[in-house]
Amino acid sequence: MRHEVREQRATILIVDDQPANIHALAKLLKAEYRIITATSAAKTLELARRDPAPDLILLDILMPDQDGYAICRELKADEATHSIPVIFVTALGQAQDEAKGLQLGAADYISKPFNAAIVRARVHNQVSLKLKTDLLEKIALQDGLTEIPNRRYFDRKLSQEWNRQSRYQGPLSLLMIDIDHFKPYNDSYGHGAGDLCLRRVAQALAQVPARSADLVARYGGEEFVALLPETDATGACQVAEQMRSAIHALAIPHAYSPVADHITLSIGASTHRAQQPVANAEALKQAADQALYQAKEQGRDQQVWRDIDTN
Ligand code: GH3
Ligand code: MG
Ligand code: MG
Repeated sequence: MRHEVREQRATILIVDDQPANIHALAKLLKAEYRIITATSAAKTLELARRDPAPDLILLDILMPDQDGYAICRELKADEATHSIPVIFVTALGQAQDEAKGLQLGAADYISKPFNAAIVRARVHNQVSLKLKTDLLEKIALQDGLTEIPNRRYFDRKLSQEWNRQSRYQGPLSLLMIDIDHFKPYNDSYGHGAGDLCLRRVAQALAQVPARSADLVARYGGEEFVALLPETDATGACQVAEQMRSAIHALAIPHAYSPVADHITLSIGASTHRAQQPVANAEALKQAADQALYQAKEQGRDQQVWRDIDTN
């Protein structure tokens, strides 16, 4: 997925209030991993929330401002950072210290003074597990046919953006995009040609939005969705127009469509504006869906923007 392009080496965030300790660990690991470092709780949380996030955090427990346990608790409570594995690295050697760390969700525990081979092996194990989990997650959130994000990913993003938007008070737009008369295309050209058409349309749609926060996903069948944060009605209509043009430009022949001799789209759009009294994202989806229905009714190969029903 576009947002998840990453460099090959895994990134490890080393956290310790003593630069000498950071240096010792970094020396052991820097040949294999990209190393970033923090000496405070605030910096740790900031680096962990960055995109791309670190693949592993080596966390000291005894720190002056906020101890490692508290940092770990915060990391595990935040949706954006909870899946980053944490290994505690500490001089606290009691079984109860180790148990406490593991109960807080840490993946592993390394005691100081550390043994180089053990550090490398434990880090290696956690990083390879993390990369496997990332890959599985990516597969679970991607549509197999078109290789763009799937509905599950879209639903997750919609709820995240909805929450974020209500804090930042910006507009949030949504497009429902549907291929016109796709059933006769499939029935006439065959399912294989239908699949290929879906792939080409999906790839072309995914290229349209210019902002990195924008998301295009396959919603199901021949239906796609676009989520456009910080985008007002005018912007949403522009993106919809560009999408329809991009698909016109593909000029995929469709001799059995009553509206054109090539594949066309109908698009329904809606926008949630700051202060608009709407309880949940479902209302935004419904408004875009009704707009799509209207675009179909009015003859297809067009876009309709519709306000959210606030009654
Ligand atoms: P409308 O203009 O009203 O949207 O008409 P339509 O024919 O596009 O809509 P309808 O919902 O009647 O048919 C959608 C068709 O899309 C049904 C099915 O043949 C096709 N379809 C859905 N998913 C896939 C898929 O994964 N691959 C292929 N090849 N076809 C699919
Ligand atoms: Mg259709
Ligand atoms: Mg449909």
